[in-house]
Amino acid sequence: MKKIAMTTPIVEMDGDEMTRILWKWIKDILIKPYVDLKTEYYDLGLEHRNETDDKVTVESAEAAKKYGVAVKCATITPNAARMTEYNLKEMWKSPNGTIRAILDGTVFRTPILVKGITPYIPTWTAPITIARHAYGDVYKNVEMQVKGGGKAELVYTDKDGNETRETIMEFKGDGVIQGLHNIDKSIEGFARSCFNYALDMKQDLWFATKDTISKKYDHRFKDIFAEIFENEYKDKFEKAGIEYFYTLIDDAVARVIRSNGGYIWACKNYDGDVMSDMVSTAFGSLAMMTSVLVSPDGNYEYEAAHGTVQRHYYKHLKGEETSTNSVATIFAWSGAFRKRGELDGLSELVKYADALESATIETIESGIMTGDLYILSKLENKKKVNSKEFLEAIAERLDAKLA
Ligand code: NAP
Ligand code: MG
Repeated sequence: MKKIAMTTPIVEMDGDEMTRILWKWIKDILIKPYVDLKTEYYDLGLEHRNETDDKVTVESAEAAKKYGVAVKCATITPNAARMTEYNLKEMWKSPNGTIRAILDGTVFRTPILVKGITPYIPTWTAPITIARHAYGDVYKNVEMQVKGGGKAELVYTDKDGNETRETIMEFKGDGVIQGLHNIDKSIEGFARSCFNYALDMKQDLWFATKDTISKKYDHRFKDIFAEIFENEYKDKFEKAGIEYFYTLIDDAVARVIRSNGGYIWACKNYDGDVMSDMVSTAFGSLAMMTSVLVSPDGNYEYEAAHGTVQRHYYKHLKGEETSTNSVATIFAWSGAFRKRGELDGLSELVKYADALESATIETIESGIMTGDLYILSKLENKKKVNSKEFLEAIAERLDAKLA
């Protein structure tokens, strides 16, 4: 078979532990036999991050900006235990945080649905994608606990030194205060990423805040979305036959539960944190959740939503068999190939991405699956396989599709 050609490299960000093992197997079993793989490789494994004083993470994000499409393996975010385990010079920051800060994007998370695994909300027949704003609000708050009564004020000093004041509370006794902020530019980036992604996916976009109560703060989000939609996206949405829909967050929650799925739900930072866990749990498994970071200027970084699956890795090191689910990591690669193919006009590469995804889903729907899905699946002929057997079963189907 002639291998599928690529023109522009994909930025490849390798990672840690079990997902690093799966990463190599996915490339060997599902990619290299079919694609003349071109990547610019960055090793974000913790050892190499430590050797390079974490410069490799910054370089990989710069490369993602240069080439526009990246695929990332799960990585360890160091804590005290990892400091000793890896003999680290410093407690390096979360690579995802570093990459997000450089690309300035919005994270979109989408569940992968398969027959045999029914969501806890059985009417959710199509995926719900959560788009979470990843800057500000309570994640960049300033808090105080106050004692014994007193006056709390909100004070803004402009460039010329003029002050604007609002009384927050005249405390008669003990209490708590917090200050939140967001930045118009960040909200605008969030809005554009969401509108672009909705056009990409040809799905409706929902957005919700609590602007009836938060008449200035949340209202600013609502207004920025409305303005950008009116001026830049309304016609494009009409042409694509999709809709932008704004409502209150409590109304949105009720509608989401009653819906059939199949749309993108844009959430402010805190709502996105909470609702993405709700939605992913309701759909079944973190190992079946894809994640893509989309920057406002159109760069894409694909990854799995789960971590490095440390417990399985230690089993693997002891020579024990693992049954780790590689679906989200496979879909990170297929997402990157599809986007690269679209950007470079390579229809064969897009077809390969589609075939890789359908071969993966059909394998599970035929009854062959990893242990995490085996527990959940209602299929009668289900069979649990190990990490590698699962990839080999997908390859068998992929061969047939691409022949
Ligand atoms: P995790 O790797 O997501 O795994 C937690 C548990 O979920 C596993 O022990 C496993 O359960 C199950 N699981 C997750 N993914 C699975 C898969 N693909 N197949 C089968 N089971 C799966 O989270 P963690 O153990 O809390 O974190 C490990 C490391 O990952 C940490 O160092 C953390 O910093 C890092 N992390 C990285 C990212 C990222 O790079 N995006 C995200 C989150 C965490 P059982 O053990 O019961 O089988
Ligand atoms: Mg959370």
